[in-house]
Amino acid sequence: MVEIHCHACGGFISEPERISYLLPSNIKTAAAPHSAFCMCARPVVYGPPPGYVSSSGMEMPDHPKA
Ligand SMILES: [Zn+2]
Repeated sequence: MVEIHCHACGGFISEPERISYLLPSNIKTAAAPHSAFCMCARPVVYGPPPGYVSSSGMEMPDHPKA
């Protein structure tokens, strides 16, 4: 299982379906990840959302490596 940390507060995101994905072009300053839970109303992750197909032709697998 992949741990996802909120880039706004650095907390661990327990509800991935609530993540707001931002593309790298929108990155400002990412908080350092820590072990506490993210308490943001809308957790922020810098990166393409699952299923995002980049213009390079590379497709992300639906199932990340275990
Ligand atoms: Zn957060």
